Amino acid sequence: MSGIILISAAAIFLASVVLWSQRRHSMRLAPREESLTMKVQIICGDCAGVERLPKKTFLTRKGECEQCGGHSFVLASAIARAAKVGAQQRVVARMMAAKIAV
Ligand SMILES: [Zn+2]
Repeated sequence: MSGIILISAAAIFLASVVLWSQRRHSMRLAPREESLTMKVQIICGDCAGVERLPKKTFLTRKGECEQCGGHSFVLASAIARAAKVGAQQRVVARMMAAKIAV
């Protein structure tokens, strides 16, 4: 009877050692979770203070300015897009004015 108990205890011990070593091995091989992030550039009005021009900073994950924590900003990409559209409209207006003048 005690032989069966000893064999059972040994089997349980060996199984737990094997499971423990496999778990450690799998933890070593598991890739670290890394989040790929990309910064979003903003133009913050709060950072400008009394200066005339607003400053370019970055957006945090919370949706705040990276430097001052403010919320008075616009996306720099939106300003760049608006400037590009404005430049295109000025070129078209010049072309139409030149065509009308001729
Ligand atoms: Zn700011």
